[in-house]
Amino acid sequence: MNLLCEPVRLEKSDYSIEIGRDLSGRIQASCAAFLQASRKVAVITDTNVATAQAAFMKQTFKGLPLLTLPSGEPTKCLESLKCVYDFLAAHSLERDSCIIAFGGGVIGDLVGFAAATYLRGIAFYQVPTTLLAAVDSSVGGKTGINLDTGKNMVGAFHQPDAVFTDVTLLETLPPREFNAGMSEVIKYGLLGDAKLFEQLESLDTPLHPLHPNLPQVIRTCCALKAAIVQADEREQATEGGRALLNLGHTFGHAIETATGYHSYLHGEAVSIGLVLAGRLSQNLGLITAADVQRITTLLQRYALPVSLDPASSPQLTTSTLIDAMNHDKKIRKGKLRFVVLQKMGKAITLDDSGNNDLPKLWRSAGAID
Ligand code: NAD
Repeated sequence: MNLLCEPVRLEKSDYSIEIGRDLSGRIQASCAAFLQASRKVAVITDTNVATAQAAFMKQTFKGLPLLTLPSGEPTKCLESLKCVYDFLAAHSLERDSCIIAFGGGVIGDLVGFAAATYLRGIAFYQVPTTLLAAVDSSVGGKTGINLDTGKNMVGAFHQPDAVFTDVTLLETLPPREFNAGMSEVIKYGLLGDAKLFEQLESLDTPLHPLHPNLPQVIRTCCALKAAIVQADEREQATEGGRALLNLGHTFGHAIETATGYHSYLHGEAVSIGLVLAGRLSQNLGLITAADVQRITTLLQRYALPVSLDPASSPQLTTSTLIDAMNHDKKIRKGKLRFVVLQKMGKAITLDDSGNNDLPKLWRSAGAID
């Protein structure tokens, strides 16, 4: 079953997101269209993906120049970017060529940024191989790399020319990585689709790569993201807009920064962040304690953390975490912005009123004074 998400229509580009099983033939046909027009195509991936998906790659990308980078977040750096530029130049890719980002969010962000800047911008396809990339990073055109001073500090908005999400690729993903992607799926339900949240709650078997509902759920998430991106491509809306996608992330990023990105996967930190965003919403009288319990229960179904684990991270203090929040690059005019739940399935942005009792919130997640 191949599901075609509504095309993402942006001011300067339109692209389709194809979601299904066994999309190798579709990807090959797209590459063939380039090659028949004497346009070049090159593929970039990481070592884990190259090993786990060797058969798929052999079948799909036969004969195309291939660059395999080390796997992991450190690859989203200037040195790797240089490797990508050198590889593209060595294979004489031109303005009308296309790069395929075959991997998770790390490869997608790095390759997307290389595509945005090489020869002042060339085409690229996203072929996500993680759940996080399938529902989030492959759609929306945010690309970039990290600097020593922070994550995603250099980047560009550069939309892909197509996204091919073949869910069979997720079958080799470590379960912990799949579950980390589920926190973004749950986030979509919370921020914009109560029915999705209820559907997730009512599944007899939790989602997994072979689950028959998975393509449809990914499609729902992509459609939600596409609608938000269409309305606010460059995150300029004064209220709501693309910032809503950061539900749980103000807290999650603080956890990642405070633990040096070692203890939690991004989705795991976001999971704790979603619980805290829920509790903040409850403190504001927007949702109930029972709603927060529903959020917690669903996250726990995917073995996601809902509070800080003193065993797996240094004991984090409220002041370290609040400090990290205050250095978030999403701060506007010196003020923190929160994304809270107006109700289950509807998020809103909220400027920090100073009354949010952040130490108490962090203590509720296990931080110490
Ligand atoms: P990732 O790309 O590092 O992949 C996670 C791990 O899984 C890696 O070790 C990778 O090698 C491995 N892997 C990937 N696919 C596999 C497969 N099919 N089989 C076996 N192993 C596989 O991490 P991620 O969670 O996909 O992405 C995280 C990155 O995404 C972060 O850098 C984050 O900043 C970025 N991100 C970007 C956006 C955006 O809008 N651009 C949104 C969210 C996150």
